[in-house]
Parts: sequence; C-alpha cells; structure tokens
Amino acid sequence: RNAGLGGWPARRALMSPDRTAFVFRGRSLTYAQVHERTTALAHRLRSAGVAPGDRVAYLGPNHLAFAETMLATHVLGAIFVPLNFRLAAPEIAYMLDHSGASVLVHAPECAATVTALPAGPAARIPVADLHTPPDLHTPPDLHTLPQSTLPQSTVPETAAPASVGTIDVPVTLDDPALILYTSGTTGRPKGAVLTHGNLVWNTFNLLADVDVTSEEVTLVSAPLFHVAALNQTLLPTFLKGGRSIIMPSWDVDDCYDLIAEHRVTWMFGVTTMFAAFARSPRWPGADLSSLRLLMAGGAPVPPWLIREYQDRGLVFSQGYGMTETAPGATFLEAGMSARKVGSAGVPVFFSRVRVVRPDRTEAPPGEPGEVLVQGPNVTPGYWDAPDATRAAFTPDGWFRSGDIGAFDADGHLHILDRAKDMYISGGENVYPAEVESVLSEHPAVAEAAVIGVPDDTWGEVGRAIVVARPGAGADAEELVAFLRGRLASYKIPRSVVWADALPRTSSGKIVKPELRATYSGDVG
Ligand code: ATP
Ligand code: MG
Repeated sequence: RNAGLGGWPARRALMSPDRTAFVFRGRSLTYAQVHERTTALAHRLRSAGVAPGDRVAYLGPNHLAFAETMLATHVLGAIFVPLNFRLAAPEIAYMLDHSGASVLVHAPECAATVTALPAGPAARIPVADLHTPPDLHTPPDLHTLPQSTLPQSTVPETAAPASVGTIDVPVTLDDPALILYTSGTTGRPKGAVLTHGNLVWNTFNLLADVDVTSEEVTLVSAPLFHVAALNQTLLPTFLKGGRSIIMPSWDVDDCYDLIAEHRVTWMFGVTTMFAAFARSPRWPGADLSSLRLLMAGGAPVPPWLIREYQDRGLVFSQGYGMTETAPGATFLEAGMSARKVGSAGVPVFFSRVRVVRPDRTEAPPGEPGEVLVQGPNVTPGYWDAPDATRAAFTPDGWFRSGDIGAFDADGHLHILDRAKDMYISGGENVYPAEVESVLSEHPAVAEAAVIGVPDDTWGEVGRAIVVARPGAGADAEELVAFLRGRLASYKIPRSVVWADALPRTSSGKIVKPELRATYSGDVG
C-alpha cells in the first residue's frame, strides 16, 4: 500500500537481497540489510512521535544515516527535509521553523550549529542514537566526535527497542516526499515540495535516456541535501538495484581512489567538481576505463571542459534542471554530446519544455526567452508560500524556471543565463554566462564572474571579477584583448577586478547578488 519511496526497500530486499546497495567509508550494506535497518529506524522514529505527513529534518554531510533516515521517513508516510549543513544556525533555524519539522536528525559534524539553534519544537536525535538499542554493526570510528557538546535529545528515553515488524502506511504518489530547499543563489532558499510521484517520474525520465542497470556502480560525490545527488544518482541506482558509493564529502583524490577501487561506472558532478578533477596531477595517468557515463549539470558547463573529457574518450553529457523539477528538465543524449557541445539537450522523456516571449507566445528557434517546464516531475509548489507558488507558475500551469534559453533548429535547448543575471548594454542583452565561459578559457583565469554595473553612456556595462590561477600572470588589458577576438564588443567587460575567491553556494554556483553588492560601485 506504500506506493511511495517507503515501499522501495522492501521491494528491493525481495528482488535482490544480497546485492550491495550502499558503500560508505569501506562499509557495505546489502538491500536486505537496508530494508531491515530502515524498518527498525522507522519504528524508532515512530516512537519519537513521527506520524504520516510530519516533517523529519536531517542535518549532516553524506552518510549512510542520510539515506536510511530518508527511507525510514518515507516508510512512515512522513516528509523528509534534508538541510544544507554548511548554512549558519539562523538559516537552519528558519528552515526548521518554516517546514514545521517535528524531528531533527543531526550528524556530529554539525554539533556547533545544533548547539547554536534556538530551542524549538523539533526533537533532536543525534545520528549515533538512530538505531536503538545501539547498533552493533556500526563501527565506532564513524561517530568519534565528542557527543558531550550536543544538546540533550528530547526524544523519550523510553523509546522501545527496535522492532522489525512490518510497517505499512498507505502512501500515494501525490503525497509529499521531500521539502527540498533551493540553492539560494538568487535569494532566500525556497522550500520546494516534491511528491513521491515527482521523484518517481524524474527517475523514469532519467532511465528513459540513460541505461542505468543493476550493474551500476554510482559514485555519489555531490552533497545529498542537493537535488541532483539525491534524485539523479542515489535514487535511480537504488530503484534499479545498483550500488551507490557514497562519498562523505567531495575530494578530488578520494574520487580517483574510489573510481579505481570500485570500478565506478557513473558519476554526476557540478562544473566546479569536473574542472577540479581534470586539473588534478592524476588526470593524465589515471585508469578511468570503468566510467561509462559522466553527467554534469546544475550550472553552465563551459565547452572546453566538455571537450577535455571527450578528448579522453569519456562520455560526458549535460543536463539542465532545478530543484522544482526534481530536477531533470532537459538532457543531452550521450551520442549527441560531441555534436551539440554546450547544449543542455532536449526535454526529458515524459516532460515538456517551452521557450516563450514575455507575452508567453512561443519564441521561434534561435530567439531567447524564458524556459517553462511542465510534466509529472514538476513540484506542486513551495511549502507554506502561496504567493511564491503563484508567481512560479503561468496561469495555464507551466513552471517558470527564471532562466533564459533558446532552442536551436534541431530542438536542442541552450541555456543562456538566469533572467536576473542578464544585463542590457546599449540596448543589447548580455548573458554573463557566455562571457564567463570564454574568460575561463584563458590560461591565467581560475574562475571568473561577470556582472552588469550602471554606466552613464550604455545604461549598463560588464564588469569581470576574476580569480587568477596560482602563479599565472595576466593583466586586465590582456584579458580584454583575449575576449576581443572571441566576443562582440558590447559583451566585453569594461573593467576587471581581481579577487581571491568567488562566493559560491554549496552546489557550486556563483552567488551573483553577493558579487553585485560587493563590486557594483566604483572599484578604482
Ligand atoms: P534559488 O532558486 O534559491 O535562487 P538555484 O536556482 O540555484 O537557487 P537550484 O534549483 O539548485 O537552485 O538550481 C537550478 C538552477 O541552476 C537553474 O534554474 C539554472 O539557473 C541553473 N542550472 C542548472 N543546470 C544548468 C545547466 N546545465 N546550465 C546552466 N544553468 C543550469
Ligand atoms: Mg531557482
């Protein structure tokens, strides 16, 4: 009767009990074990008062406990609320309050944040206490951080020992499965509700385009509280009975080691991760022959990066999406990736994508407009934010991405930039992402961002904020000269500012509002 994700562990335990579901820090769990542990954990959460529809929040880096808490929450028909553990206590407090979480499961790494949270209604359960009685399978090294600094758990100490009796709560595909806060690139994160159906359909959209099989060895390298790692890698691998190698946190060397040790077949990453991977000294000599698919997304992927992977014979493709579309909206099919470098691909199988003019009529191929998405993967709306929900949909029910894109003559989508980041110089629209992509090809540039700043003559002109590569010498004139041959003159930034680092979200995106606040004025 549990038609949602809570039914998946039992199903997989039936179909492939002895196959490995998760590997974390050298420890493996079979599907039978995941089912058993998830059931026990569901009993534990239920004894803490969690009922269908309640919210269970999780604060911590990637860990087995993340996946288990999510599945146990879904067994109970409750809603899982993964939180970005890099946020500050007031931001976490806002999300706990806004989602109305009745339980907060927290990892030892987040002790300082948890201590700084105001007292709230959410019962706090340390990850180490999840399995009661204490789980004998858990090696002690997983939870060695001092627990004494953590606030007292408010869960009744009388919680019954874990029972393994089946729990079968009726759940439909229309019931919410997640409240997933957006990356907060353009403002305060919004709590997108994703139903079980949204997650299932996102998985089906992916499976329709990518041959994920039970033989998959998937490296879960991005943070699981972000939509892509969770829904584009862990869940599809789980549904198919494949093996997810969960990285505690992103690290280039660990990534090389895990690929070699587990013969990883599939990996998703954001642009910054793939760039760091390819710039490692291990890149030229590493055996990457097990990798059959690399998927990038979440931010613009510069063509040079795609070519670097393709030149090594790797299949490197790109997807476009957002938290609110669970996340896949378009996908560049592997065979097309060499011919359509830079494109975000075509709409995913069971969804539709349009590019429209401001009056919502269809923009013809080649003409930029707002990207709209409709399909069974699209959120019903934001949690407890009716105004934001209304603003996010057109009157006829299309989700407004806020991104500017254009279809080419073959129906492939090209994402230009966010509408909010575009600026107008002398009447011409400039998409900073394009300028940033060209700038990042210069050997002296480690990272670059472009913003529009006010200008008396042109209305706005571009300003580049550039992080130099260590040891590389270049001056502003040289960068401008480099751009001259490659971009129309109205797109060329009029000033260059050198910076030590760019502000980024945890999902690797440049926080433009922060850059504008810092660099819009006179910079000498
Ligand atoms: P917020 O909505 O809180 O401002 P966010 O939009 O960055 O944050 P996410 O849902 O993580 O939160 O990101 C979705 C956005 O990421 C898209 O709307 C788009 O701007 C960008 N994006 C995703 N994939 C791509 C891609 N392949 N190319 C360019 N941009 C992309
Ligand atoms: Mg967004």
